[in-house]
Formats: sequence, C-alpha cells, structure tokens
Amino acid sequence: MPKIKTEKKSRVHNEVAKQGIMFNKDFGQHILKNPMIITAMLEKAALRPTDVVLEIGPGTGNMTMKLLEQAKKVVACEIDTRLVAELQKRVLGTPYQQKLHIMVGDALKTELPFFDLCVANVPYQISSPLVFKLLLHRPFFRCAVLMFQREFAQRLVAQPGDKLYCRLSVNTQLLARVDMLMKVGKNNFRPPPKVESSVVRIEPRNPPPPIPYREWDGLTRIAFTRKNKTLGAAFRQTSVLTALEKNYALHCSLNNVTIPEGFDVKAKIEEILTEVEADQKRARTMDIDDFMKLLHAFNKNGIHFS
Ligand code: SAH
Repeated sequence: MPKIKTEKKSRVHNEVAKQGIMFNKDFGQHILKNPMIITAMLEKAALRPTDVVLEIGPGTGNMTMKLLEQAKKVVACEIDTRLVAELQKRVLGTPYQQKLHIMVGDALKTELPFFDLCVANVPYQISSPLVFKLLLHRPFFRCAVLMFQREFAQRLVAQPGDKLYCRLSVNTQLLARVDMLMKVGKNNFRPPPKVESSVVRIEPRNPPPPIPYREWDGLTRIAFTRKNKTLGAAFRQTSVLTALEKNYALHCSLNNVTIPEGFDVKAKIEEILTEVEADQKRARTMDIDDFMKLLHAFNKNGIHFS
C-alpha cells in the first residue's frame, strides 16, 4: 500500500488501529472510542484541580488526555510498550507532558504511588486482583470510577440473596461503598468486546473496618465455596477441618497456649456455629454484619483463618 508509506507515522498507526491489527487480545485492548462516555466518567469522578489521578491501562490515551485537562497530575500504568510510545507522542511538546507520569509494566506487579482518584477503563482480565490491590493500598484514595465487564460490576454491587452475590461482593463491600453508575454497550469500544460493560464507583471505607482482612478473606472463601449449602456443611469438609486445625495449633504455639487434651476441631467448630446460630445459614443470604459476628465468634474461640 504505497499511499500509507508516504503518510506520517501516526497516521499509519491510526490506519492500523482502525483495522484492529494493533490491538492485542491478550492485554484486553478495547479502546473506548465514544468521547461522551469518557466525559460522563470524568463527571462522576468529580476531579479537583489538586488531584493526582491514577489510570490503569491508558491504551492510546483517549481518557488520559481528558484527565490531564482537569488534574494536577496523572499517573498512568501501561503494560504494552507500543501503546506507551503512542501516549508519549500524544503529549510530546504540550503542557501536559509535565503532568503525565507513565509507569511501564503490569499494574498488578507495580508498586503504586499515592493517588487521590483512580479513573480508568481497565483491562478486564485483571479486574478482581486490581480492585483488592486498590482497596488495600495505603494511604487511602478518595474514590475510583472504573469500567468493568457488566457481570463483574453486578457482582461488586450485589446484595445478599441476589443471584450474583458472591465472595467478591462481600469482600469488596467490607472495604468500600460500591455504586453502579452506568451501562455501556459493547459498540462504544474498538474493537467491540464480546461482553457488555458497566461503570461503578468505589469509595474506600475510611477508617477501614477493624477486621484483619486476611482472616475475613479466609472465612468468606470457605463460606462461599458452597454458597447454597449451609455453613454447617461447608465447615464439615475434611480439607477445611484439616487447615483450621493446623491454624489452631499454630496460633496456640504462638500464644504459648497448650492445646487442650482431646481437642476435636470438628466439634469445636460445630459448637461455635451453633452458638451464633449460623450452622443452618447459607452464605448467599448472609450480609457483612453476619460474617463479622461469625468471624468474631471463631477468633474469640481461637479458630483462625490465616
Ligand atoms: N483505557 C484505554 C484502553 C483500555 S484497554 C481506553 O479506554 O481506551 C486496556 C488497556 O490496559 C490496554 O492498553 C492494555 O495494554 C492495558 N493492560 C492490559 N493488562 C495490563 C496490566 N496488567 N497492567 C497495565 N496495563 C494493562
């Protein structure tokens, strides 16, 4: 195609992009092409001129440019070096060059700096670990406005009894307030993904609940492996009992407590579940308060999940 050869390089890149060759499926590259969606997301994020904004997976920078207009600084973490080059070119020689800090690499493996807000159309394949990386990040950020695959977004906001209520729902809602903001159809992206999308707002609970997160995570993992079964059944699994007995022994030795003679982990757990009337409960109907009470009862009796 001799015509393309004579054109400027960025133009060539655009042509390639239009044909969809440039985008790498492994990196979940679906560029948000509708500027109205970007504007709406920024509006929901309510940026202040003093804000440092984190963007995960800026891609070609459609959202990054808008963020740069409103923020003090944008930190953008991108794994694909070709797109990093594209983004650098886009700000080169503009006033935004000074405000943009690009971190090249996998967002999950990168140590994130301080940020006030996180606004992004994220790579969907890292959604879950990314949410927890953000929520466990310190110091706290103020708010995140993020685009996810619709079903993932629905799981984040699901309430007890909802079909999509799961461990992701309770774990996220323990640490944050989550709201569904808008639905975004697949044709707003290039190339269009197979799935529909939604935007959610995540606001960390600050101060955080006084609960050791790893204990919590361990408990909900067991409870939700069989979310329709009773807790009594979930806690009767041999693998669960073995793991909890090991933890019990470890915590006893750490605290210089001798394990009572004839200690039976199964009986102990049954006793605790009965005491808080949880043996017949099912994870799918339990709210955060229910899990908190349960964790407290277990921990008080020396049963630990981490
Ligand atoms: N935000 C852009 C692009 C979204 S596509 C837009 O809305 O137009 C997802 C982007 O995340 C791609 O640029 C992809 O290269 C990048 N990406 C994928 N996995 C990543 C990871 N682990 N860490 C950082 N960036 C990643």
